[in-house]
Parts: sequence; C-alpha cells; structure tokens
Amino acid sequence: MEVLMPNTLDEALRALVKNQDAVIVAGGTDLWPRIRDLEVRPERLLDISGLSGELSYIRKEGGKVRIGSMTTIAEIYESRELDGPLEVFKDVAAKFGSPQIRNAATIGGNICASLSSEDYITLLLALDASVVLKSVYGERTLRLEDFIVDKRTVNRKPYEIVTEVQFNDMTDGWRAGFEKIGRRNTLIINLVNVAVALRYNGRVEEARVALNRVNRKVPGRARAAEKALLGKEIRGDSDLEEAVEALRGELSLTSDFRASGEYRVALAEVYFKRIVKRLVGVA
Ligand SMILES: Cc1cc2nc3c(=O)[nH]c(=O)nc-3n(C[C@H](O)[C@H](O)[C@H](O)COP(=O)(O)OP(=O)(O)OC[C@H]3O[C@@H](n4cnc5c(N)ncnc54)[C@H](O)[C@@H]3O)c2cc1C
Repeated sequence: MEVLMPNTLDEALRALVKNQDAVIVAGGTDLWPRIRDLEVRPERLLDISGLSGELSYIRKEGGKVRIGSMTTIAEIYESRELDGPLEVFKDVAAKFGSPQIRNAATIGGNICASLSSEDYITLLLALDASVVLKSVYGERTLRLEDFIVDKRTVNRKPYEIVTEVQFNDMTDGWRAGFEKIGRRNTLIINLVNVAVALRYNGRVEEARVALNRVNRKVPGRARAAEKALLGKEIRGDSDLEEAVEALRGELSLTSDFRASGEYRVALAEVYFKRIVKRLVGVA
C-alpha cells in the first residue's frame, strides 16, 4: 500500500487530484479497523494527519461557528469557544468512544464516514450545518443534509477534501440538546441518538429535530415532528403528544442484534420528549 503524507492542504489537494483513487485517512478510527478486517483494500492512502495545524480550529466569526475538519473530539470537549448553547458539542464528546478514540477521531471523519452510528452528524443536522469542500479547482459549500447521501455515501468528488463544518452561532434564542442511548456507559454504539434545536420564546418559533432511524440508513431530519412543535407552548407531556405522534410516523423499524426496531422507536420518543422539556425548562 502506498501512503501519501502531505504537510499542507495545498500539497494534499495537488496529491489528491493526481491520485483520485487515494482513500483519505484522518484519525483512522473508522478506516483502520475496516482495512484490518479487509472490508476495504485501498492501494493508496492520503494521510492528512499532517494538516491538523491548518485544519484544526474552532472559530466564531460573523455570526457563524466554523470547526476545522481535523479538529478532534478531545479538542471539541476542551474548547472554550463552544460555550452557552454550544456546550451541546461537549455532551456529544463526553459519550464518544473512549479517551484514545476521542484523541484521534476528527469531526470531519465523523461526517465523512456517513453511518447511523456517527453522533456529530445528528447534532449538526439539527443545527442545519454546512460542509466546506476544497479542491485544486476551488471551494464549495453544501448543506450537510445534501452532503450525506446514504450509508457510506457522501456527496464528495474524489479530488475534494472536507475542510470545515459551519453553522449559525445560535445566539438568537436558540438552544440545543443531544441524547445518545446505548447498552453501556462507555464505548457506546448508539441504539438511538436524538438532537433537537429550538428557538423558544414562550412558544416554539423554530424547531429542528434529527435522529438516526428516520427513513434512511443515516441520521436525518424528522420534519413532521418539527412542524408539529411549531407554535406550541410547552408545559408538560400533553403539549408534546402531537409531535411524538408525528415522530413515530417518521421512524423506520430497524431491528438488529443490538435491539428491536420497536424498542428503538420507544427510546427515541422518550428521549425526544426529555430533550424538548429540558430545553424549555420543564423538568
Ligand atoms: C472503539 C470505537 C468507538 C467509537 N465510538 C464512536 C462514538 O461514540 N460516536 C461516533 O460518532 N463514532 C464513534 N466511532 C467511530 C469513529 O471514531 C468516528 O466516525 C470518527 O469521528 C471518525 O473520524 P476519523 O478522523 O478517525 O476518520 P477516519 O477513520 O480517518 O475516516 C473516516 C472516513 O472519512 C473519510 N475522511 C476523513 N476525513 C476526511 C476529510 N477531511 N475529507 C474527506 N474525507 C474524509 C475517510 O476517507 C474515511 O472514509 C468509534 C470508533 C471506534 C473504533
């Protein structure tokens, strides 16, 4: 196997356009086990760990939060930039893998792996995030929802590198919550993950709900539940009945050796209600 090891983004983009069969490796926490298990057999790798100086950052600028794709989960957990409603990024990090995984895994690798087990996809969908892709030909920005196509399929050209995710800084009354449910407390592969972002001023003015098991094999937005939340003044469970009903209609019943589909849907409903009530201050 040939391994290309660029030291700058420019070098990496030039190497990639010449070697479009090269598989990008960032932290390797998703890719190396797949290579070990012979699930994929790349002849060429483009190791972008040398770009972490350039692509590892968390910045707030002009009403946007920008996170470089090489930012690790440990860096997210320790970041001082991610405060207030953005603390939700740390809630995700706190339940992510193990210390070793958090030190190596990157946010870019999380979204590019495009699986239902990827926790930041769910949160970033609820924040209506966008993805920045760069190549020798320039730059393009795509909504995350359009970037994630299906399991292990993303909207990326073979000569492009994901350099950043960005989203609005949530200063305008937004609040966000995340829950992940697994079978143990560390190294959790989620049975369900749920993220909710709300703009709430006595009533729900805007709502975004994302979770895995909605229609596709990757996390997606639960738009019927979002619609049902709009305009609601939430004082207790009864105000959420319509939204829960809508959510139930949107979820697919996916069973596997970890859990039955019915159990997953029941969990999703409970945690959806729990997050919304927490966000609006109804315990
Ligand atoms: C024990 C264990 C526990 C885990 N726990 C969790 C968990 O709790 N939550 C969770 O969400 N995930 C978990 N994961 C999965 C994995 O750690 C994450 O998906 C991680 O974020 C992947 O990032 P990475 O940098 O290691 O990606 P890599 O393995 O380097 O790459 C993953 C994929 O993305 C592509 N890629 C990476 N970076 C880029 C880029 N900048 N541009 C274009 N393509 C790119 C690669 O080609 C590859 O296809 C776990 C994995 C293990 C092994």
